[in-house]
Amino acid sequence: MYDILIKNGTVIDGTGSPGKILDVAVEKSKIVEVAASITGQALQTIDAKNKFVTPGFIDIQNHSDSYWTLFDQPEQKSFLSQGITSIIIGNCGASLAPLLNQESIKTIQKWHNLSGINLNWASMPEFLQMLKAKSFGVNVGTLVGHSTLTRGLLGDQIRKLTLDEVKILDKTLRDALDAGALGLSMGLVYAHEVNSSLPELRAITANLKPANKYLSVHLRSEGSQILDSIDEVIDLASFHQIPIKISHLKIRNKNNWHLFDQVVSKLEIAYHQGVKISFDVYPYDTSWSVLYTYLPKWAYEGGRSHILEAIAGDMSRRKILDYLRDQNQDFKNLIVSDAWGNSNFVGKTIGQIAENQNVSIENAVLNIISAAKAQVMVFDHNLSAEQVELFCASPLSMIATDGAGYLGKSSVLAHPRNFGAMPRFLKMVREKKMLKWESAIKKLTMEPASLLRISDRGVIAKNNKADIAIFDPQTVTDKADYVNTELLSEGIDAVLVNGKMAYKNKQIFSLNGQVIKR
Ligand SMILES: [Zn+2]
Repeated sequence: MYDILIKNGTVIDGTGSPGKILDVAVEKSKIVEVAASITGQALQTIDAKNKFVTPGFIDIQNHSDSYWTLFDQPEQKSFLSQGITSIIIGNCGASLAPLLNQESIKTIQKWHNLSGINLNWASMPEFLQMLKAKSFGVNVGTLVGHSTLTRGLLGDQIRKLTLDEVKILDKTLRDALDAGALGLSMGLVYAHEVNSSLPELRAITANLKPANKYLSVHLRSEGSQILDSIDEVIDLASFHQIPIKISHLKIRNKNNWHLFDQVVSKLEIAYHQGVKISFDVYPYDTSWSVLYTYLPKWAYEGGRSHILEAIAGDMSRRKILDYLRDQNQDFKNLIVSDAWGNSNFVGKTIGQIAENQNVSIENAVLNIISAAKAQVMVFDHNLSAEQVELFCASPLSMIATDGAGYLGKSSVLAHPRNFGAMPRFLKMVREKKMLKWESAIKKLTMEPASLLRISDRGVIAKNNKADIAIFDPQTVTDKADYVNTELLSEGIDAVLVNGKMAYKNKQIFSLNGQVIKR
């Protein structure tokens, strides 16, 4: 007797092979049979006629940890409802482990306020054990954040690491990788990494090679300096011959869009020279950014207290204002999506806030950052829709949310990609026909599984974990937008996680996620 039998669906197995009409039988946590006609009895039979049956999607670029929603909304409904069954956290330089000391965790402060948070772990094994003891809607694996490591040693100081500290860093990273962390992440734009030099980055990256694990990098620049930033990661990938994935690749601001062809050709040339480079992308033309990263580097290196001091000082404030005025940046139309302790800003444009405060746009930017203690997120409609689509279609891309999982009842204004990234991509594939379905599905399943080097997920095959998404290719679509950010997508019929029904008819049925480690 099977637990679940999925009949008559078009199985797109994730490998890139075209879909075939097949049945899929599930027993306990695994797929036990994939065949043309399975006749055995099952406790539950699902008729998937005219539906696609695919591996559950693996969200390779995820922030449920740094936004803390993994713990306060463990159902991760906004992901299950997109067909996502696994999330990889610890991205953009910030992870929740290993914590060298109390300072380390502060790397997530730019996204989430830490007051009232109780940490009962420090090392990676302790963190993974803690995750294992909890119940989540999706499977969870983590990277080690480079900022998390360095911040534990440097606190808010702006200086290079000493040789002894480098040794501590290397050992801490290696121990975490040995314990099952899936790789290392960098957030080179952020306060505690913006000063890191190429030799430093090469040195820490060396630890990935023996562990056969990958590096995920939030580029130093996604704007005017993006070409240099891409050279930097290509250097890191080729120097140690390790796989590198660029996080949420995009070209910010209209005046930089002309760099698109050069960005693509750099990546393609590197790839054809044997550099293991890939990137992930979210299918939206509006980014979701930490507001302080729009300030000059000198004003935010060293972290929050430095930012607030720089804004408060007469001279330094004037220098920042000059800098902001010189930027070719449409600050007026940025929409504040989150401002710690200042919900009155949320949903307003910076232009509206400036008008209310009767100050210049640039002054409003600084007032908001200062009022919310530097914890401010904004929506920035700064990407080219056409380029986003081309990135989605690229053979080097995977699709990811770069988001956090929500239950759908929160008061925050979060980016719609948290609820709609995968269905929006699938709708794009249906309408624009820029990819075959099988190639599109591979980007959500086997591609990320291969980067993680996990062999039992990401493909529908006998003996693999039964992480499965069933959806209607004719109707699948996202619904969430920048006003109604928490609308569930349509067309995702059912989602299985480790052999159990996790999501069906827009309801959560089980929290059956496991910890993914290697
Ligand atoms: Zn990032």
